[in-house]
Formats: sequence, C-alpha cells, structure tokens
Amino acid sequence: MSVLVTGATGFIAQHIVNDLLKQGYKVIGTVRSEDKGKKLKSQFGNNDLLEMEVVPDIAQPRAFDDIFKKYSSEIKVVLHTASPFHFRATDYEKELLIPAIQGTKGLLQSIMEFGSQTVEHVVITSSIAAIKDTYRFLEKDLVYTEDNWNPISWSESQLNPQDAYRGSKNFAEKAAWDFLQHNKGLIKLNLTTINPALIFGPQLFAENITGTLNTSAEVINSFLQSMPDRDITNIRGDFVDVRDVSKAHLLAFQNEEAIGKRLGLSAGQFNGQDLAEILNRRFQQLRGVIPPCTSEGAYKIQPYAKFDNSKTKEILGFEFITLEKSLCDTAAQILKKEY
Ligand code: NDP
Repeated sequence: MSVLVTGATGFIAQHIVNDLLKQGYKVIGTVRSEDKGKKLKSQFGNNDLLEMEVVPDIAQPRAFDDIFKKYSSEIKVVLHTASPFHFRATDYEKELLIPAIQGTKGLLQSIMEFGSQTVEHVVITSSIAAIKDTYRFLEKDLVYTEDNWNPISWSESQLNPQDAYRGSKNFAEKAAWDFLQHNKGLIKLNLTTINPALIFGPQLFAENITGTLNTSAEVINSFLQSMPDRDITNIRGDFVDVRDVSKAHLLAFQNEEAIGKRLGLSAGQFNGQDLAEILNRRFQQLRGVIPPCTSEGAYKIQPYAKFDNSKTKEILGFEFITLEKSLCDTAAQILKKEY
C-alpha cells in the first residue's frame, strides 16, 4: 500500500514524507519537475520507499490521471498538500484561486475514474483561512470552532493577494466536500481536511534555508532580519508547529475518529510582542538587533477572535508544541545558517 503526497517539495509535505517513511509507508510524492524530484529524493537518502512523480501544474485538467493509471492498485491514501501559498500574485484567479480549486477537484476526479476501488482516504490540507472571517478578526468575544466557514465571496477574493489566498483555501475545501456529496454512490473514500493556523517550526532539511523562506516560516525569518524600530503591532494570529501539522496528517487517515472531520490545528495565539519577548530572552545575540519587547503578548493587548479546537485536540490526542519551542527551533536553525 502506498501513500500519495502531492506537493512533496513543500515545507509541510517534507515533514509528512519523512514521518511516513519513518513509519514504513511506501510514499509517492508529486513534484513540479524532474530536477526537484531528484533533489528531494537525494535529500531523503535515495530511500527505496520513496518514488517521485512529476505533476508540473495542478491547475491543468487531468493533471493526476497518469499517476492513478500507473499506480492504480497501490494508492490507498492521498494527502493533498499542493496549493500555492504566497502573497505575490497579481492575477489572483490564475495564480491562486484556480490552482487551489482545480487542483482539488481534478485530483478527486482522477481518483473517481482510476482509483475508486483502491483509494480509501483523502486528506486535504485546507487552512484556518477557510474557517475564520477576516473582517471579524478584532471581535474579541468571538470564538470559532471547526464548524465555522469563512463567508468570503468570489468578489471579495479579488481584493488583494491575502484575500485571494483565503478564498482559494475556502473554495477548494468546499469543492472537496461538495464533490464527495455529489458522488456519494460512486466513490467510497473517506475525507478529512486539515485546517492549520500559521505554521512555524524548522525546515526538515536545514540546507533548504535561504534568504527568503516559504510564506509562514518567512514571518520568523523576516522578524530576525528586522531593525529594532520595526512596527510589529500588526504581527498576530494563531500558530501551530509544522511537526504537529505533519503528525495530524498521518493521524487523519490512521484514526477512524477523524473520518469526515475538519481538524483545526492551532496551538494558541501570538503577536509581535510574544515573538520579541521570546527571541530577546533566548538569543543573546539578537538583543538590540531586532525589535525589543516593550509591551505584553497576544492575550493581554488587543485581544482578537479566538479559535476553540477542543474537538480536534480530543481526536488527535497529543499536546501541541508551544510557541516558545516552535519559535526557538525555527530561529536557531536560521541563525545557525546565517552566522
Ligand atoms: P509551500 O509553498 O512550502 O508548499 C506548497 C507546495 O505546493 C509546493 O510543493 C509547491 O511546489 C506546490 N504547488 C504550488 N502550486 C502548485 C501548482 N500550481 N502545481 C503543482 N504544485 C504546486 O507551502 P506550505 O508547505 O506552507 O503549504 C502547504 C499547504 O498547506 C498548502 O495547501 C497551504 O495552503 C496549506 N497551509 C499552509 C499554512 C502555513 O502556514 N504554511 C497554514 C495553513 C494551510 P513548488 O515548491 O515546486 O512550487
């Protein structure tokens, strides 16, 4: 039995592939080019359990057909992590919305046509962005749960790259649940979505640390490169560590309790002051170099809408990594590379 991981080169996916290999699964990872596949395979020590397949663009119709034709009887589990996550887009539909939505729909269509007898579980990496309503961010008494949906409309998703990304995650996840509903009798697979908050934590391979990192790790990377007078008041949100996100992707298909669920992954709230406090206290070399801690953290100043993911925590049954550990492990890896 094999597990297909789409977007295997990604920040989260590399941890997932690693965890799957450690648990003895055969893994088929999709990458966008032969070169990326070769590099990743060699980073995993050319592990025999790992196969690489090229899917250059998930937005293309039938992008996954060949994979399911080739491995028709093998793939029992699909972990769909591939989706554009950046705020550089200028054509929001083309660069963010369509790949996310079409990637999800196309994958499920391929499974229905070529893997309906073998694929048992699909896990889709959605986001907390498909849960929270950005426009109600500052309502401090508002509490979200895994049952909430971001009410963002298609036209609101055209306003800026951030909203386009949020829309892309929301519409893609909805498309997956709708697909399952519409094809009930034709497809037997179980679906689980993973809805993580902003993800911190180290890269699986330290050699992948470059000047600019993936969008969520870049929040920490850019903080480490900030001048002391940087305005950090707008840095805030919910966070979770990448190692926990990976663990949750595996439990999503290993634990029957997760079938049909949206697993909301958040270890709590943070803001710029929390980052400044921890980094200044734990890394002597950063004092006077990065923004200082001048106020109190996320829970004290400017409280904002909360996320109650107690249902998810009960299903997963493990304690999430704390902000302090996640942040320090991330920063230590970056600083080791830089200095
Ligand atoms: P990365 O940018 O590191 O990984 C994204 C992956 O998707 C890469 O492998 C990328 O390939 C691939 N990809 C993007 N667009 C396409 C496309 N059009 N065709 C084929 N492959 C594509 O991001 P993360 O690991 O952080 O994110 C992974 C998933 O988790 C995404 O679905 C994201 O929305 C979701 N998520 C992430 C959070 C975070 O804070 N990091 C929070 C919540 C959800 P390549 O690198 O070759 O371009």
